[in-house]
Amino acid sequence: MALLTKAPRGTADTLPSESYRLRFLENTLSETAGIYGFREIRTPVFEHSELFMRGMGDTTDVVQKEMYTFNDNGNRSISLRPEGTAGTVRAFLEHGLYNEPLPQKYFYLTSCYRYEKPQAGRLREFHQFGVESLGTASPAADAEIISLARNIFDFFELDGISLEINSIGCPECRKNYHAALLEYFNSKKDELCETCLSRLERNPMRILDCKSPVCSAIAKDAPVVLSYLCEECEDHFKKVRKYLDAMNIDYTVNPRIVRGLDYYTKTVFEFVSSSIGAQGTVCGGGRYDGLIKELGGNALPACGFGMGMERLIMLLDAQRKELPDAERPQLYIAPASPEYSFEAMRLVSELRYEGLSALTDLGERSLKAQMKYANKKNVMYTLVLGEDEIKTHKASVKNMDTGELSEISLDSFSEDFMHVTINAALGGLGADSLQDLTLIDGGKK
Ligand code: ATP
Ligand code: MG
Repeated sequence: MALLTKAPRGTADTLPSESYRLRFLENTLSETAGIYGFREIRTPVFEHSELFMRGMGDTTDVVQKEMYTFNDNGNRSISLRPEGTAGTVRAFLEHGLYNEPLPQKYFYLTSCYRYEKPQAGRLREFHQFGVESLGTASPAADAEIISLARNIFDFFELDGISLEINSIGCPECRKNYHAALLEYFNSKKDELCETCLSRLERNPMRILDCKSPVCSAIAKDAPVVLSYLCEECEDHFKKVRKYLDAMNIDYTVNPRIVRGLDYYTKTVFEFVSSSIGAQGTVCGGGRYDGLIKELGGNALPACGFGMGMERLIMLLDAQRKELPDAERPQLYIAPASPEYSFEAMRLVSELRYEGLSALTDLGERSLKAQMKYANKKNVMYTLVLGEDEIKTHKASVKNMDTGELSEISLDSFSEDFMHVTINAALGGLGADSLQDLTLIDGGKK
């Protein structure tokens, strides 16, 4: 039975008490991406496994240990997306979007799946805000996505998030670098973990990203890729930094960043915070000039980043940043007896068509029970509908914060109610002002 009432490990529900804040966050991210010229793309939650194996590289931790992979009933190998880039590039190629003016700039807000050891800031189903700039080799594009991420942290006034950048060069400069790494790691062969031993010949750079304490200690003294950059990569990196300087974006060069995925070339970067414990990388990205060709397209350069939504929320919480709460319902209409519930339903419906949030009883409950419910829902106004009100077509709405009563007509209900709320918003100008407002309105009544 417990299986039915307990979500799988590493997943989380977003309850109504939290979802409004999340929606606000998502809207802010989408709008900011829009300001930078990125448009939303949505791709399936599952793809052919091959896409991720090719796209991320089969020596990466994600592909080797973390993918949710299964055969569907048609015996095709399917994987839940562990990240957003491969699917985005697949869609870009499938729909011939490379024929549109380049670069194509996309963003997404998406769920990702990785079989990892769940802990704070590390889930099995998590969410990413990501952007991709496809079809541009310019260092300006690298700097532009970095500045978009920085803009988001600044919008929420988050402190202490440092930007670390590095260049891991192109396949050309990596030849010499790999040789140097191989020589270094070969001398430490006895101490490396088993996974790293298997990486040694195929992709020694992956060892730099190993999370085992022994391997990462060994990796600390390994040669750094920055000393092996070719002239073009050197120049690209210089220009990225010049663009960042031009936008006043602080950074430190950290020659140890290599990023977890194989497809990166040249620029790699991370935004790191110390306020959320061990999982401090809030955003990671870089350039991936080899990926589009790897996935069957023409050789087109590109760059992008992924930002962990859960980690962003942890940061907002850790630094006590307020996000808006859900808006309060405006009016609760309480029928004093079930026979008035039809008129109550007519009235809330009228308000709802005017875009006002209104509630009424759905359970033939006593007036007392209804008022208790309205209070719990934190409604701004209440109105009791009884025999008198039905007879006279007039009712009093009560401001639940001030206790003030205002009489309104059931015949011009939504209009009158709006006047009451406007009045209150204007700072409670007194009961007379309702009439004044009606006069301004052309004395319609
Ligand atoms: P890490 O080193 O923390 O495992 P990564 O290099 O695997 O990160 P990316 O693949 O670059 O991460 O994903 C981009 C961002 O997505 C990360 O910077 C992080 O904010 C977030 N992220 C990655 N994996 C998880 C996860 N399992 N749970 C929550 N957020 C995650
Ligand atoms: Mg990881």
